[in-house]
Amino acid sequence: MRTAVFSTRRYDKSLLTQANAEAEAGHDLVFREDRLTLDTVALAAGCPAVCVFVNDNVDAEVLKQLAAQGTRLVATRSTGYNHVDAEAAERLGIEVVRVTDYSPHSVAEFAVGLLLAVNRKIARASVRTRDGNFELDGLMGFDLHGKTVGVIGTGKIGTIFGRIMVGFGCTVLGHDLYPSAAFEAAGGRYVGIEELMARSDAVSLHCPLTDETRHVVNARTLAGAKRGAILVNTSRGGLVDTESAIQALKTGQLGGLAIDVYEQEASLFFQDLSSTIITDDVIQRLVSFPNVIVTGHQAFFTLEAIGQIMRTTIESISAFEKGEALVNRIPRG
Ligand code: NAD
Repeated sequence: MRTAVFSTRRYDKSLLTQANAEAEAGHDLVFREDRLTLDTVALAAGCPAVCVFVNDNVDAEVLKQLAAQGTRLVATRSTGYNHVDAEAAERLGIEVVRVTDYSPHSVAEFAVGLLLAVNRKIARASVRTRDGNFELDGLMGFDLHGKTVGVIGTGKIGTIFGRIMVGFGCTVLGHDLYPSAAFEAAGGRYVGIEELMARSDAVSLHCPLTDETRHVVNARTLAGAKRGAILVNTSRGGLVDTESAIQALKTGQLGGLAIDVYEQEASLFFQDLSSTIITDDVIQRLVSFPNVIVTGHQAFFTLEAIGQIMRTTIESISAFEKGEALVNRIPRG
């Protein structure tokens, strides 16, 4: 099936091509580096399937245009699908599939890495030693052993993150709309979000971005947090009101911030902007804090996870082509 693949990078091209060949699926993959937007949607003309990533803009207008051009399937190479207007897709008769089961360990392990890096100032220390500075001043962290860690969203990734933190000797608190036995079996305990924020020395976000969770971390929740707590966000940028986080960092209410996702990341991430003037003052302010680490949406970026993402995407396109059940269809409203 002819498929326009948007937001393609070198690794997408090689691994999706490999998955297509290994499955002998024979899909005609048309790779585009551009993000899918209203300006680029014409590039998908003549493609019954379109494959997108997290910063493609699959809103109602784009979907309308895709439908008019004959697209019937949108396959996102991600778990989260907040970048797709699911209602509009359903209305227009466009199927939307995602990748639910690809190494949740990739993201959970990265979240642990970010927590350690910001707490123990690992990135700062590395920059210093490259410059011949072996001072320890300013690099002190705290033991995670014996501390309390909060997990907001205790699904696949949050549960693995919680289990790892239990292994560190932490008390692990969780908050979720749908408490799970797996999280409790991993050693976590459910509390309300206020109690979680008030008691946690570190909080990690693992819920999807929805209308309910947008800015779940805001001025009010940050004011109720334990003073000096560390916040880790590997889920979606929109979960955090970044301006409030900056204020909380300035006062020391927030002791550290590590983010792999950022609300305005669409115009920044997955590109080399090192020779351009970045006009987003918020991200520039964030990276100026010594106790902030920003990575460019790489938590999923392991060999295992990417391989599975590409295999599942090819399987979904094949299933659609053959009229088979779409096991990875996004939930319907
Ligand atoms: P999951 O569906 O297994 O778990 C999500 C959990 O969040 C569920 O238990 C759900 O009940 C809970 N939840 C939903 N609404 C909530 C709310 N209002 N309050 C509290 N909890 C709520 O998903 P997962 O595989 O664990 O992935 C979690 C998120 O991680 C994804 O939605 C995606 O945004 C993000 N993610 C990021 C990367 C990355 O590279 N940075 C990669 C994969 C996934």
